[in-house]
Amino acid sequence: MLSNMLSNSNYTTEILDLQGAIVKNVETASNKLTVHVEMPVTEHICPACSCKTSRIHDYRVRHIKDLSVAGHSLTLAYRRRRYRCTSCGKCFPEKTPSLPDVGK
Ligand SMILES: [Zn+2]
Repeated sequence: MLSNMLSNSNYTTEILDLQGAIVKNVETASNKLTVHVEMPVTEHICPACSCKTSRIHDYRVRHIKDLSVAGHSLTLAYRRRRYRCTSCGKCFPEKTPSLPDVGK
């Protein structure tokens, strides 16, 4: 079963080129697959003041659609984390792997 394979983080991050991502959940509904992923919490450098922070601010879910895996249409629900700088208070999104449609 494909959803079982996709539940394996190594497999999914390899086929989707999401290095280091964690697969949280795989949903199947009427032949559509939704894979929920997020990145592990790591220390990030504030873009404003260059201090290090790992304080989590909030999350935004991005849906990356029209991916195709093994003939199945697949949506990636990427829970993108935002960090808050503990020094200057700036919020900024985490570094992301090379996803289509993710960036700005
Ligand atoms: Zn800062």
